[in-house]
Amino acid sequence: MAQILDRVLNGAAIAAEIRQEVAAEVAALAARGVRPGLAAVLVGHVPASEIYVRSKVKTCEELGIFSELITPPETVTTDEMLALVADLNRREEIDGILIQLPLPPHVDTKRLLDAVLPEKDVDGFHPVNAGRLQAGRPALAPCTPSGVIEILKRSGIAMAGTRAVIVGRSDIVGKPAAMLLLNENATVTICHSKTRDLASITREADILVAAIGRPGFLTAPMVKPGATVIDVGINRITDRADFDRFFAGDAKREETFARRGSVIVGDVDPHAFDLAAAYTPVPGGVGPLTIAMLMANTVKAAKLRRGL
Ligand code: NAP
Repeated sequence: MAQILDRVLNGAAIAAEIRQEVAAEVAALAARGVRPGLAAVLVGHVPASEIYVRSKVKTCEELGIFSELITPPETVTTDEMLALVADLNRREEIDGILIQLPLPPHVDTKRLLDAVLPEKDVDGFHPVNAGRLQAGRPALAPCTPSGVIEILKRSGIAMAGTRAVIVGRSDIVGKPAAMLLLNENATVTICHSKTRDLASITREADILVAAIGRPGFLTAPMVKPGATVIDVGINRITDRADFDRFFAGDAKREETFARRGSVIVGDVDPHAFDLAAAYTPVPGGVGPLTIAMLMANTVKAAKLRRGL
C-alpha cells in the first residue's frame, strides 16, 4: 500500500503501484495462454488526444498488454466508424475498445459509444455499464472516477459513513464518481451549475470531489477544515493575473510559467488545500490514475470475457 507521508495524496505513486499489479496479472494470464488486448481509435489530429493515446499505447507495451492504434482520418463518417467498431467487437484478440474523445463534430459520438460491446467498453461509457454500476453489479467503471476511489482506498481514507460531495455531474466523471462513492457507503450529494448556495453544501463535505472544468473554482471558504479534497480538474492558465491569484510566491511554478507561458491548475484554488486533512495535487494527483485504471479495466475485461 502506498504510504501517505504527508497530506498530499501521491497519485503518481499509487498509479505506479497499480501498473505493477496489472503487469503481474498480465504475466499470470500469459501463463494460461491469454494476452489482454486494447484497440485505441484516434481520429484526426487533436494534439492533446494524440499525446493521451500515445501514452496509453506505450503503457500497454510496458505492461505486456497487446495494443493496436487505429487512426482514421478527420473526414471519417459515422457509418465508417460504426463498421470499424463492429470489426473490433468481433475480433477475439481485442478485449478493450477505446475511442478517444472528442470526435469531429460530424461524427455521432453517442451512437458510436453505444455500438461498443459493453464487455469491451474499457472506458465504462456504455449505458449498460453505467446501469451495472448503478445496480452494484460487476462492471467496467469509468477510469478517472475509479482512480479517485483507488486513491482514497490506498491512502487509508475511510469512505463509509462520510458525507461526500461531488461538484460536477458529467457522465465521465461526476455521476460515476457519485455511484462509486455510494457503493462505498458514503452519503453522497451531487452538485452542478444549477445548484443553489453551493458553498453551504461543499462546506459539509468530509470528502469533496471537484470535477467542474473551471480553474480554481472551489475556494477556501467552500471547504470544511479537515476535509479530504480530490481535485479532478485539469485547466491550463495563461493569464498573469490568474497565475498570481493561485501561485504568487511559488518559485517552481513561476519558472514553468516563464518557460511555457502557461501552468496547470485544478478546479480547486490551491489556497483551499491548506484547510484539507488530505488532498490530491494538480498535476500529480488524480491525473496519473486514469491510464493506470484503463490498463486495469483492459485486464478485467479480458478476464470477464473468458469467465476467469
Ligand atoms: P464537464 O463534462 O464539462 O462537466 C462539468 C460539470 O461541472 C457539469 O456537470 C457542470 O454542471 C458543472 N459545473 C460547471 N460550472 C459549474 C458551477 N459554476 N457550479 C457548479 N457546477 C458547475 O467536465 P468533465 O469532463 O466532467 O471534467 C471536469 C474536469 O475534470 C475538467 O477540468 C477536466 O479537464 C477534468 N478531467 C480530468 C481527467 C483526468 O484527470 N484524467 C479526466 C477527465 C476530466 P452542469 O451539468 O449543470 O452543466
